[in-house]
Amino acid sequence: MSLPEGWDQTQTIAAISTPAGMGGIGVIRLSGSRAHAITKKIFSPRYSSSLRHRKMVLGDIVDPQTGVLIDEAFVVLMDPPHTYTREPMAEIQCHSGRVVLEKILRLLIREGTRLAAPGEFTLRAFLNGRIDLTEAESVIEIIQAQSEAALQLAQKQLHGGVRKTIMPLIEEIDQILTYIEADLDFSEDLGVDFTPTWKTFWEKAAPQLFHTLGHLMENFTTCQMVREGFKMVILGAPNVGKSSILNRFLGKERAIVTEFPGTTRDFIEEGLLIQGLPFRVIDTAGLRETEDPVEKIGTRQALSMKKEADIVLLVFDGSRPLSPQDTIIFQQIDTKKTLLLINKIDLPQKITPSTLATHTKEKLPTLEISAKTGQNWDQLLSLIVQSVQHSHSTQEVDSLIPINQRHHQLLEKAKEALERFQEGLQNDIEEVFLAQDLWEAKRALEAIIGKQTDDTILSQIFQNFCIGK
Ligand code: GDP
Repeated sequence: MSLPEGWDQTQTIAAISTPAGMGGIGVIRLSGSRAHAITKKIFSPRYSSSLRHRKMVLGDIVDPQTGVLIDEAFVVLMDPPHTYTREPMAEIQCHSGRVVLEKILRLLIREGTRLAAPGEFTLRAFLNGRIDLTEAESVIEIIQAQSEAALQLAQKQLHGGVRKTIMPLIEEIDQILTYIEADLDFSEDLGVDFTPTWKTFWEKAAPQLFHTLGHLMENFTTCQMVREGFKMVILGAPNVGKSSILNRFLGKERAIVTEFPGTTRDFIEEGLLIQGLPFRVIDTAGLRETEDPVEKIGTRQALSMKKEADIVLLVFDGSRPLSPQDTIIFQQIDTKKTLLLINKIDLPQKITPSTLATHTKEKLPTLEISAKTGQNWDQLLSLIVQSVQHSHSTQEVDSLIPINQRHHQLLEKAKEALERFQEGLQNDIEEVFLAQDLWEAKRALEAIIGKQTDDTILSQIFQNFCIGK
């Protein structure tokens, strides 16, 4: 496998690994055959300590050409293979100002390192066989995780969760392929027919293969929700209090709240954690017939959003009787994922849960709340969590296999190839063609863990990393 352009693996690389900006400590990392030698050139340990594997040593960073002191730092060297990249590595912990970090980095570059590309440390860990591609991907996910659940999923991926499920599938396919190829290559010479053998293997393996592939693909939807958040749409006629509800969720004045109907014309989408689960809350322009072109767009979008939503909060203003608009909206809801909220219970009430119940065939979860005073807010949060858990992730994060978009596409490819194989088998297609389908399935599965990966895929994956990781 050749590397993306400019990622010469023989060079020693260096990068600032901590985020930009001021902080207590900044870390510069080096990896490559000269990592130790170059670090030693710019570092002079105090108290006659010696640098050795995983020992943190205090000293000074000094420009070897001018003898000028740049900073005091802790330095640690790491010997392969027990390093992140499996190459010799060094870490310099200095003060975390932009100027001081850049000065040390420039010094390292002058002394012979190259600035690392985004994700290049992790790429090397992958290329040197310490981790597979799914584990490399999980590093980005750990960094980007927005919730505990997403982090848990990413950690599972880091510890080989995907590989452990995929490898047995590859081995099964391999076994069948071996016999088919033996049939093609030697059966005439040996006078042995391997066909019954591989057919028996296939018949035994097929149900489990299809089942696991299907199960992994189903996992994907829930994984995406855990990573990106459940989509929660707030719907209702103008002025019922949608923006006020969103604001209370977020604890800030993000949406403009006014006394006049129809001010929230655009969509406002915000990330939010409810009891550790990530949500993306969308406030809509409200569903109602309107002549205003801007609102018309908003209304149409609201309807389409509703389709994509994992949960819909349908809001009513409890202080006034149901309006014709409320009734129109009622007719359009998807009862499976809708919670009914009677807002403004701090005011004298004109609507009760039983008023709403007369408008729906099924009994929907209904809660009286006040966005203004926060009354019944905890019940609302629990109801929301229960509702998504019930309809989507009946599976605990614990039992999920962390599948991402790339894995999902390849799983689909593998499944299609196996289906073609199955069909070919039923239609007595020649072995040589059958073998091609199996090869395709095997390659797709291998690509998931990075056994078969081209440079474009690698660049795509690693360009999402930050520098220094
Ligand atoms: P939207 O058009 O559905 O987004 O409604 P807004 O959030 O803009 O609220 C419309 C009006 O109702 C504003 O004057 C809010 O202050 C008021 N409002 C919203 N929620 C409550 C509530 O729980 N109690 C009371 N008394 N007023 C509310």
